[in-house]
Amino acid sequence: MSYIEINSSNFFHNLNLISKQLGSREKLFVVLKDNAYGHGLKLMAKLSQEFGIKKCAVKTVKEAKEIQKFFEYTLVLSDIPKDKFSNIAIAINDINSIKKIKKGSLVELKVDTGMHRNGINADDLEISLKLIKQKRLKLKGVYTHFRSADILSSEYFWQKKNFTEVKKRVKSLSKNLNIPLPYFHSHNSAAIFRNNNFDDDYARSGISIYGYHYLSKPLPCVDLKPVLSLWAQKLSQRELKKAQKVGYGGVFEAKEQMIVSTYDIGYGDGFFRYDGLGDLKVAEGKNILGRISMDSMSLESSKDKLCLFKDATSIANYFNTITYEIITNLSPNIKRVVI
Ligand SMILES: *Cc1c(COP(=O)(O)O)cnc(C)c1O
Repeated sequence: MSYIEINSSNFFHNLNLISKQLGSREKLFVVLKDNAYGHGLKLMAKLSQEFGIKKCAVKTVKEAKEIQKFFEYTLVLSDIPKDKFSNIAIAINDINSIKKIKKGSLVELKVDTGMHRNGINADDLEISLKLIKQKRLKLKGVYTHFRSADILSSEYFWQKKNFTEVKKRVKSLSKNLNIPLPYFHSHNSAAIFRNNNFDDDYARSGISIYGYHYLSKPLPCVDLKPVLSLWAQKLSQRELKKAQKVGYGGVFEAKEQMIVSTYDIGYGDGFFRYDGLGDLKVAEGKNILGRISMDSMSLESSKDKLCLFKDATSIANYFNTITYEIITNLSPNIKRVVI
């Protein structure tokens, strides 16, 4: 059977680098949405707890409930539950959603500082805080998200400045409305490594904890280590004669006699569907031969197991996408092994 290997020392190495940048591991929310970016929700929650992480962010209430016991506090980014919880906070992405949240729930208010995707308008801070108070919601945090922290431009500073204004306003409004001061966070992975004077209460890191970053030069180069590697097992082996073809459409044709084996990962397992027309190599330097099938792919190898990738970057580049997509696509049904 194919499997995913999770390298725990690489994970701890990344968490260590990020915590140092922030000043302490207490300041880090690990982002475990989408099955922990394909790594496996529960096992990444457990490893995070081992490292001493207290807080995390996920997409749904279902995810939050699954890992509740590993964290002091979980933020749900994009879901509104019917119940309320003592250690799960619900993000308010739109002023109209305040009325849908159960009275007494923990909430965090997302503020739009320039990305224009989610969050209330900064002009609506006062009315939002009043609605939150009226509804007896417990405001734990106020946060925002950067749209281009990975790009060398002034946009990060512009949004950061907007958030500084938001913080000021929230501080004075919470005093006037007599509500406890919420904590503040804004930084994602890219922003964390751009800022050597971190001044929020927390930061949220996703892709960097898994070992990737997207800072374009000359932004700082960070020594993160990919955590996930993907391994496939041999299903069958054959000898191809010259001019015999492999797989659907017979796209690959042997130029000479060769040993070919078929391995048990295909696009149904979340590996991108390669059409066999280019030059896509797996970690061991072998070309994938012909089209990838739903449950298998063929390579020139006789090994019993083969590493498809230890670092998703070259596959992401090949498909003109980002490592986020390559890793989150991996099926939750693939077995995960922690080393
Ligand atoms: C996904 C997400 C993150 C993590 O972003 P990375 O670039 O992976 O660090 C942080 N905050 C929010 C609101 C997100 O949705």
